[in-house]
Amino acid sequence: MSSKKIDATKLSTTEEKLLNSLVDKGIREIKPKRFGESIIYEGLEDLIKDNNYKEVMKLLKSLKKKEYLTEHNYDSAIFCPRCGSIQVFSKYNCPQCQSMSIEKIQLIEHIFCGFIGNRNEFEGPDGLVCPKCKTIIGDFLGAQNKKETEKNKQIRVIGSSFVCDKCGSKFEKPTTSHVCQNCKAAFTYREASYEKLPLYKLTDKIEILSPKRFERDALHQVEKIFSEKGYSVEIDGKIMGKSGVEQSFDLIARKNKNLILLDVSAWGRQTDLISLLGKKMDVDSQSIFLLDLGGNPNLSALAKPYKIVVLDGKDDKHMENLTTIIGEITDGAAEKRDSSFWKRGKK
Ligand SMILES: [Zn+2]
Ligand SMILES: [Zn+2]
Ligand SMILES: [Zn+2]
Repeated sequence: MSSKKIDATKLSTTEEKLLNSLVDKGIREIKPKRFGESIIYEGLEDLIKDNNYKEVMKLLKSLKKKEYLTEHNYDSAIFCPRCGSIQVFSKYNCPQCQSMSIEKIQLIEHIFCGFIGNRNEFEGPDGLVCPKCKTIIGDFLGAQNKKETEKNKQIRVIGSSFVCDKCGSKFEKPTTSHVCQNCKAAFTYREASYEKLPLYKLTDKIEILSPKRFERDALHQVEKIFSEKGYSVEIDGKIMGKSGVEQSFDLIARKNKNLILLDVSAWGRQTDLISLLGKKMDVDSQSIFLLDLGGNPNLSALAKPYKIVVLDGKDDKHMENLTTIIGEITDGAAEKRDSSFWKRGKK
């Protein structure tokens, strides 16, 4: 059996626009968010007119098929089966007559004096008060906590049930139904549309559209940090290795006797770390960084024995961390460095 291969690269104009807009904004992950009557995908707000959720989903699914995006479980939502709104609220109903007009009754025991009564008999303006012994019990949740130290404040919930205002039935478990705030339709889980709201992540296939774009953007940010610390920075620089082969790094920063080398891994590939490790062996610098924009959780542990610092680009604080480390290197580490390295390193 043979299956026809889909043309994975051909993009519609809108699809291409969507991908380019993500790259321009530096967004690699798009999350669904409840917004008013509908769902929006963060970062795509300005892209699709009126943010038609169904249109957005169609685009995202198509880009997933073309392997520019991967889909991941994230959230689910109840949609009104009549108008499609997500402003849907849950209600409890009487299982006998379906009325929504039901009352919840909770039986409470005041352990201290043994009084048992309906919760509303305990309710006072400042929390619960025992109707029999007049002890001020206070907060309902706090009083149920076994850690409550004041013995006279302890209560126990004996049970809860419901009473229907309409037909008078008593029951423990109500049925659930939903009401749409927008069109007022009432419906149950049987009629409801229940849909998955996935999260989407860009794949490295985006490199076809914008080669090295994420690396470039990140490098310029890093360059700024080094410049502020008084370093001279070279992007796509080369250093003569001990082997006599020139080794290239995405960024080389120099200040006095300090030499810092940095590579960027756009997708957190292990091969990027291995390549950097190979270069490290040849140049023997103490300050070597890998900025991992893909946030691969394994890279840091793999790099540790080789004294390569991996910065997790998915961590909001990664630029802050880099600033701190550069500061430490600048202040103290220079003397420990192999000075002969410099003669070789200089062009
Ligand atoms: Zn009492
Ligand atoms: Zn009823
Ligand atoms: Zn509706």
